[in-house]
Amino acid sequence: MSAPAGADRTAPAWVLRCVDCAREHAALEVRYRCECGGTLDVVHDFGAAPGPVSPATLDARRGSFASADCSGVWRFREWVLPLAAEHIVTRAEGNTHLYESAALGAWAGLERPLQLKHEGENPTGSFKDRGMTVAISVARALGMRAVACASTGNTSASMSAYAAQAGLRAYVFIPEGRIAYGKLGQSLAYGGRTIQVRGNFDAAMTLVEQVCLARGIYLVNSVNPFRIEGQKAILFELLQDLRWDVPDWIVLPGGNLGNSSAIAKGLAELHALGAIARLPRIAVVQAALANPLFTAWTTGAPLVPVADPQTLATAIRIGSPVSWRKCLRGLNATNGVVEQATDQQIMDAKAEVDAAGIGAEPASCASVAGLRTLVARGVVPRGAHVVAILTGHVLKDPDAIVGYHRGTLEGIVPARANPPVTCDATLDAVLGALEG
Ligand SMILES: *Cc1c(COP(=O)(O)O)cnc(C)c1O
Ligand SMILES: [Zn+2]
Repeated sequence: MSAPAGADRTAPAWVLRCVDCAREHAALEVRYRCECGGTLDVVHDFGAAPGPVSPATLDARRGSFASADCSGVWRFREWVLPLAAEHIVTRAEGNTHLYESAALGAWAGLERPLQLKHEGENPTGSFKDRGMTVAISVARALGMRAVACASTGNTSASMSAYAAQAGLRAYVFIPEGRIAYGKLGQSLAYGGRTIQVRGNFDAAMTLVEQVCLARGIYLVNSVNPFRIEGQKAILFELLQDLRWDVPDWIVLPGGNLGNSSAIAKGLAELHALGAIARLPRIAVVQAALANPLFTAWTTGAPLVPVADPQTLATAIRIGSPVSWRKCLRGLNATNGVVEQATDQQIMDAKAEVDAAGIGAEPASCASVAGLRTLVARGVVPRGAHVVAILTGHVLKDPDAIVGYHRGTLEGIVPARANPPVTCDATLDAVLGALEG
């Protein structure tokens, strides 16, 4: 398909290459897959980009007031996507804090503090904003008028916000009744037309690909290769935070596997450019009842979808992850591992992350839960320098928090329950309620 009128006609410094058959496609066209059905990679010609970017340049941009420089994605534009500036739709995404917690390090079994990159501090409360700023900017470069996604909640929140800023219509497909309240609220608030599909995420995903083809709507799920390019900036910004001191391990949750693919791709590119001398190992953590990657990785067999994925961590309740090939390729390149965590382990880890004053949504805390298992197994050495990615904000899923502390989550024993107490409106009663 050729680019519609209004598209950017300057020759971009990248192509889209099929992950399965290596066939190449034009840089800017409305396309998500190869003819063979394979997903696509953005393959950069860094030689044609405006020179290699030095750490000093990146630091200078961090202190700049120019809108692209203020973004924790577009600050790294030469490595993300050298798109013409007039198309860029940004909310100064990224710029998230890197926390350090001795308590969480000790809880996970490490001898040193655990570092946590809090992607919940993005404008709509999840790392999805990093990929979305790029996908929506490309939608504008292509002259598209509407965008759509299937979502467990955070992609739809992000897409709706960025589409509203860009003046694009937004269509959201969500699995009915399986979306955290904060996320549903955001999608409605930002004006996304929200369609609840009677089925799970995987069913919604299949439908939205068909709807986009039928109606000329631009699909911004992570099957869209430009989302992955933006999400690489988590890694770039993390390394900038660390003053380019490469950690031993990066641990993150895995659902549709776009994020783990993005971090591995960014690592491979920086390594090839000579910007980093060694690679950290990546650990992807899945929910135990939504674990197709874990099974594929431990058995060495191709990925078999999980028909009815189950977990309280709704952001990773995905049985048929679209980016599994990219993710396995990245795990091989970084000597990575896959772990799994039960809902009890995820909620226990969440209680620790929350009580450390940091806080994150359940799926985010799968990373810390999985890390604890990996340390106990001796896979991650106790002396390792580990960074866990916290993917979403604590307020995304208030039901999970209140349910945990009230002890009403089915099948979960709340070891750190901190329920609200009720008392009469007298001084004695209130003073009594302070103890306990
Ligand atoms: C999307 C999301 C994930 C899963 O990321 P994938 O790229 O789909 O593997 C994990 N946590 C949160 C909070 C998310 O929004
Ligand atoms: Zn192909």
